[in-house]
Amino acid sequence: MTTTTGILDIAITKNPHSKIAEIDFENLAFGKNFSDHMLLADYADGQWGDFRIQPFGNFEIHPSMASLHYGQALFEGLKAYKSPQGEILLFRPYENARRMNRSAERLCMAQMPEEVFMEALTTFLDIERDWVSDKEGCSLYVRPFMFSTEAFLGVKPSDFYRFMIITSPVGNYYDGAIKVKVELEYSRAGKGGTGTAKAAGNYAAALYPAKMGQDKGYRQLVWTDSLEHKYIEESGTMNIFFVIDGKIITPPLDSGTILAGVTRDSIIQVAKSWGLPLEERKISVDEVVESINNKKLTEVFGAGTAATIAQIELINIGEKDYVLPPVATREFSNKVGKYLSDLRTGKIEDPFGWVVRI
Ligand SMILES: *Cc1c(COP(=O)(O)O)cnc(C)c1O
Repeated sequence: MTTTTGILDIAITKNPHSKIAEIDFENLAFGKNFSDHMLLADYADGQWGDFRIQPFGNFEIHPSMASLHYGQALFEGLKAYKSPQGEILLFRPYENARRMNRSAERLCMAQMPEEVFMEALTTFLDIERDWVSDKEGCSLYVRPFMFSTEAFLGVKPSDFYRFMIITSPVGNYYDGAIKVKVELEYSRAGKGGTGTAKAAGNYAAALYPAKMGQDKGYRQLVWTDSLEHKYIEESGTMNIFFVIDGKIITPPLDSGTILAGVTRDSIIQVAKSWGLPLEERKISVDEVVESINNKKLTEVFGAGTAATIAQIELINIGEKDYVLPPVATREFSNKVGKYLSDLRTGKIEDPFGWVVRI
């Protein structure tokens, strides 16, 4: 069956063997279960075509496929929620479309018009509707991604790409507050590098230092600048916020090494709309230590789509572990976390116009 939607022809082959009855929505491990279908599109001769939705499963690739060798690959991540009225809700999906194109530009990959991205996304999610659970804390994690498909061993921008969307039903990402380690040796991103792109290779480069941290009991790293390891950048796959002396502080994006998170931007806009003092500025490791010691630091949390707000209960800096104030006392992050969660699930008015309904 081919469906002609507004601007795209999408060929749809329904999966005759749905797995949904086998999924335990009360007990979801992040990213391990997949819905019944996947969306694919291929880029050739300078344009996107062959949009199709088909049963989820393996596909063939050429052994010389460029992305396997030289890493032209990127991804996006967002979540679909179910409103109390049963609609599918997306949170600021145009931001993901735009960021995908910024990542693609940095990696010399194909651009995808925002309307095309949105049409593919909404058509796909309409088919996977039943996979969006309305249980507390549940959502459907949506993973759009793109990779070069040219069969050629030369190093150059590929002329062929594949775009895909797969989805995974998820519960809460972290089941409580996390312990983190400030990384003072390795780097995630350097000035002029690919840190602002959601480039697959960035995550490969982070695995080794992250593993060293995990071996010592720290769930995530807090990255510092690659030049001096003096300033805080972000945490794992999340941006980071501090509340010090009543001010909400997050590192600025102008270093060109921090991923511009949609959650980060949303927290900033909400905090400003509440009239709270918010500073996008450099924050040094020394300032963090000092503000812990003089008890002015009251909150530290990560911000990203997967976890929304990930409370940080302990931070390792150099040889020392610092225990941070109890999560229950953290006024701002608890409040903004609840607010964003209510907004994304359609429980409250959306004064920002952020929620897209399907
Ligand atoms: C995806 C990501 C974030 C968070 O972005 P959101 O749009 O809020 O999900 C932050 N840092 C890195 C490195 C990321 O990959």
